Amino acid sequence: MSESSPEMDNSDTTIVSTGCCHDCGGRCILKAHVKAGKIIRFESDTGKAPQIRACARGRAYRQRLYSPQRLQYPLRRVGARGSGKFERLSWDEALDVVATHLKRIKTIYGNSAILFLPGAGNQGMLHGPTAPGLLLTQFGGFTRYWGIPSYEGALFASMATYGTIRTGHSRDDLMNSRMIIMWGWNPANTIWDPETNLWLARARENGTRIVAVDPRYTDSAATFADQWIPIRPGTDAAMLAAMAHVMISESLFDRNFIAKYTVGFDAYKDYVLGKCDGTAKTPRWAEPITRVPAQTIADLARAYAKSKPSALIAGWGPARTAIGEQYARGAAVLCAITGNIGINGGYASGFMRAYSSRETGHLIKKDPSRQIDKSKGIPSSNPVENGALPRPNSLYKLSGGTNATSARIHQSKIWDAILRGRAGGYPADLKMAYIVASNCLNQYPNSNRGAQALKSLEFVVVHEQFMTATARHADIVLPVNTFMERNDIAPPWLGSPYYIYLNKAVDSLYESKSDLEICRELAPRLGLSADFFKMSDEDILRMFASRRKDIPDFDTMQREGGLKIEMAEPIVAFKDQVRDPQNKSFPTLSGKIEIDCALLAEMDNARIPAVPKYLGHSEHYDTPLAQTYPLQLLTTHSKIRTHSTLEQVPWLQALECQGAWIHPSDAQCRGITDGDRIDIFNDRGRIRVNAYVTERIMPGVVNVCQGAWYAPDDDGVDIGGCANTLTLDEPSPGGAFPMNSALVQVERTQQNQQEKSS
Ligand code: SF4
Repeated sequence: MSESSPEMDNSDTTIVSTGCCHDCGGRCILKAHVKAGKIIRFESDTGKAPQIRACARGRAYRQRLYSPQRLQYPLRRVGARGSGKFERLSWDEALDVVATHLKRIKTIYGNSAILFLPGAGNQGMLHGPTAPGLLLTQFGGFTRYWGIPSYEGALFASMATYGTIRTGHSRDDLMNSRMIIMWGWNPANTIWDPETNLWLARARENGTRIVAVDPRYTDSAATFADQWIPIRPGTDAAMLAAMAHVMISESLFDRNFIAKYTVGFDAYKDYVLGKCDGTAKTPRWAEPITRVPAQTIADLARAYAKSKPSALIAGWGPARTAIGEQYARGAAVLCAITGNIGINGGYASGFMRAYSSRETGHLIKKDPSRQIDKSKGIPSSNPVENGALPRPNSLYKLSGGTNATSARIHQSKIWDAILRGRAGGYPADLKMAYIVASNCLNQYPNSNRGAQALKSLEFVVVHEQFMTATARHADIVLPVNTFMERNDIAPPWLGSPYYIYLNKAVDSLYESKSDLEICRELAPRLGLSADFFKMSDEDILRMFASRRKDIPDFDTMQREGGLKIEMAEPIVAFKDQVRDPQNKSFPTLSGKIEIDCALLAEMDNARIPAVPKYLGHSEHYDTPLAQTYPLQLLTTHSKIRTHSTLEQVPWLQALECQGAWIHPSDAQCRGITDGDRIDIFNDRGRIRVNAYVTERIMPGVVNVCQGAWYAPDDDGVDIGGCANTLTLDEPSPGGAFPMNSALVQVERTQQNQQEKSS
């Protein structure tokens, strides 16, 4: 049990303050009621405001913790990869096998043949992939990926435009907005800070006009919005350009702000007005592209420009497309030209980290005095990457941002890299995968190719809590405990002023261990003796906390189960730059918001232009492929899972139908009725799911929530309904993942038709 002082209620139940720490958009307080070593109930934050209250997923956590499907002991594969046939091993046997293969691969092929695939399925400052990453680094290094499916397009756009990823405001500032545009943003499901929905409700009650731009009538649109504007997927950049056209042609832009704080407006104006390509980006031009009426576009542009301060909050989903960074850049530019940046009630659309608590502790303290010449490669603690040149299209010349080394492979190309190696232009021939907290087979694009890739490796080890699709492809599966079974600190997912101390509520179930414990036992088998692995969990957490200026007292945080940092005023990104431009500049090369980005201009690539543009791609709605596959697929987030985590929780499954959303007009012409089994397919694969026939999705679009578990049957049909069986594995030039850019066809399953005719 924790060394903190748990509360006792008036029975024999102990209340342990802990929390939920998934990759969901939240990070929330849970109070575990523990009786006889078992959690019998959860309640959430009942303390002082702001309350960090859990959603249904956290409150249902007991069914995950005590699920009969939890992995109980180490396993070794005895059937074909993916067959799910395993035998029980002791920990000593399992770790000996892992160590033997790591040493064998290193000796024969070198460290670059070891592919490390960390994921977000098991999180915290301490637990999850942190320790295995350190272990493999000390073992001589590994090949890894760059790019995160959720946000890479938004991150790239933030860096290009503002020079930083910290762009958003704290949610209490929504009360200062006269208008809020939720663009591809569905916080009712994706949370984006546990306080978001409360403040949206308050803003609406306060009379703030809220508009949702989204192909779906989402839970957020239904709950908060005065107006829903359905838009064709992948065309957001066109609508943003058309809104800019209205603002420019009607002089609704903020001249002073543009002159003082931005560079490149004239180049953008030339694009919008069509001076460089002969096409004026008017609302009439945008209407057939976006399927949004020209009048609606013009009205929204006028309302946003005239209702200052207003918050245009561009969600990440529309940037999870084939040219996703153009949408995210376009939204940021609209915020800038209306002068809505750096002021209360406005919003700088971008990556969104208003506060820096998201940053976890670094295991190896950085030396701030060390000067780095990034053009000669960024020194890396991972020996395999050390000295590698920046990856293509990297914004490495900006301070901060992502690591620019090229030894990594874009995550969407991992399967291709495994299958083709150096001969395919990748930096390594990959022979084994060390997978931690990642159901990568499910969550990376193109799952069928992923299964093929995993089957081709010499050795695969997986740290997991459940027998996921990925774990089924492992040679060794090591059972990992959950955040109820260990101590940790949960930093907020987006960056907000609080920390949750996750006090251990119960002992580890079955034979499960933390990732750190596994590494402690693996280290000597690999001949490693790092001090880190000799430290206790609490000592490491104290070390992390000591490096955070905003955690003044670790013991109080531990005892109280968290720390809420009081802010004197709402957090407003770039407030200092706008208040005092003489002394505070934006961290771009120009020191201003870059509407025309110098680093992008340097790249001289039409697919990643210096000003944001609407661009098509090989799987867009207007390409020849759409003749065969006429529907656009969305792969959005479900409120009953966090990506593929929490898939097997009955309480959550009862909350929401998991069918594929399809508009009645698209269903009717295919003979599909609500609840039918349908096949959704393209050249990459075929999934079988139930149909949810609804007007909540626009015609021409079908939605499958990502995260359902990949489960191909003997015919290769994924009857688990994994959306990534259908998605494209080719990143945008800026690294965005094209998960919302797949074309598909839909038909009733044969079985359905037979049932109907008999
Ligand atoms: S799933 Fe996320 S939002 Fe829900 S309780 Fe857990 S941390 Fe909070």
